[in-house]
Amino acid sequence: MFKFSDTSDMCIKCGKCIPGCTIHRINPDETTSPRGFLDLLKGVEEGEIELDKNAKDIFESCFLCNQCVEVCPNSLPTDFMIENVRKEIADKYGIAFFKRVFFFLLKNRWAYDIVSKLGYMFQTCGFKIEADKNAMRSRFNIPMLKKGRLLPSMKQKSFLKKYPEKIPAQNPKKRVAIFIGCMANYNYTEVGDALVSILKFLDIDIFIPKKQLCCGAPAYFTGDFKTTEELIRYNIEYFESFIDQVDAIIVPEATCTAMLKKDYEEYIHAHMDKNWAERHRKIKSKIFGTTEWLYKHTDLKAKLENKKRQPEVITYHNSCHFGRVFNIKKEPRSLLTQVYQINEMSDPDMCCGFGGITIQTEKFDLAVKAGQKKAEIIKAVDADIVSAECSACRMQITEQLDKAGDNKIFKHPLELIAKAINEE
Ligand code: SF4
Ligand code: SF4
Repeated sequence: MFKFSDTSDMCIKCGKCIPGCTIHRINPDETTSPRGFLDLLKGVEEGEIELDKNAKDIFESCFLCNQCVEVCPNSLPTDFMIENVRKEIADKYGIAFFKRVFFFLLKNRWAYDIVSKLGYMFQTCGFKIEADKNAMRSRFNIPMLKKGRLLPSMKQKSFLKKYPEKIPAQNPKKRVAIFIGCMANYNYTEVGDALVSILKFLDIDIFIPKKQLCCGAPAYFTGDFKTTEELIRYNIEYFESFIDQVDAIIVPEATCTAMLKKDYEEYIHAHMDKNWAERHRKIKSKIFGTTEWLYKHTDLKAKLENKKRQPEVITYHNSCHFGRVFNIKKEPRSLLTQVYQINEMSDPDMCCGFGGITIQTEKFDLAVKAGQKKAEIIKAVDADIVSAECSACRMQITEQLDKAGDNKIFKHPLELIAKAINEE
């Protein structure tokens, strides 16, 4: 069993992690708090607590939002502990069939492409398309999917199928590879369109590595370490094949970026051969979130100064995986404020409550409770659009705003920037 006590023993019980914990704020109990999780994990390791259905339920209720890690004076990696106990849970109880099918798709692009195509062709049978929300609404009650639920709709052509592998610039100043992420590849393809148009505007050579697969985050957060490790090995090897030919690999998704950089590092350190750590270190130094890279390594901000100001007012949500893990907050705002007014919400750091595949399916009531608090905060702002650099936040916020009766629409910051650039 994983040695949880190494971390649990370093907890000084200060409780700093408790007030902002996403699960604790909707279920205020010590057992569902970071400090409580660490105590329980030590008990599980030492055999004092059985990893029974109740313990499974408790450990699956963590949103992996990273708030506890950010505020802990000892920087204790509670999220990493939860990921590891989920592996023990998966070993003991197995992984639900629908999740195994989904993880198979993540590893096999050909299969995901077919399912996406079929999904696009038949989505209107079970769902009503709501184009303004970039979503589809279920028409019926099916298990884990109540009538009226909003999900991201499928697109006719994925991002990876839509563009050639190389899009050369005329006088390129830099060359970047795009790692698009599954949701922006199949559902929110406007994000990739916007990124391509911004890079063209900046005269940057674009490389779209066609054999890229999922970063592995959904499998990792569910305890499927076999799939996770296969994807870690695959992605590192694949990135190595072009890393010396690009200045950066840029990723328009917070969760994928955190997975490729932070989670790979933690996983490799604990579970893989040391030589993988060295290989990962080399590619990690070139992986960036898109707004971070555009802000730090291009003149986009200066160029936006000459663009017409846009009429829409924005409010910006800090996704946990960019805001907390990498402290990326000012970069998207600095770019956006060149052309938009931003009205800040009262708590931009509060987790939206997406939580991952288990919370979005088997524990959706938790996603609604956490999401409604965020939705009220967003609803209170005088703005037209809510923005964040994360498709998981997009899916969750779109649905929770709909439930809260707020008609703000969600746009990725790249979509907003591209709109300003392309408008004459
Ligand atoms: S990751 Fe988030 S939800 Fe999980 S224990 Fe930490 S603060 Fe709470
Ligand atoms: S902030 Fe860190 S040290 Fe303090 S109670 Fe939470 S996990 Fe323990």
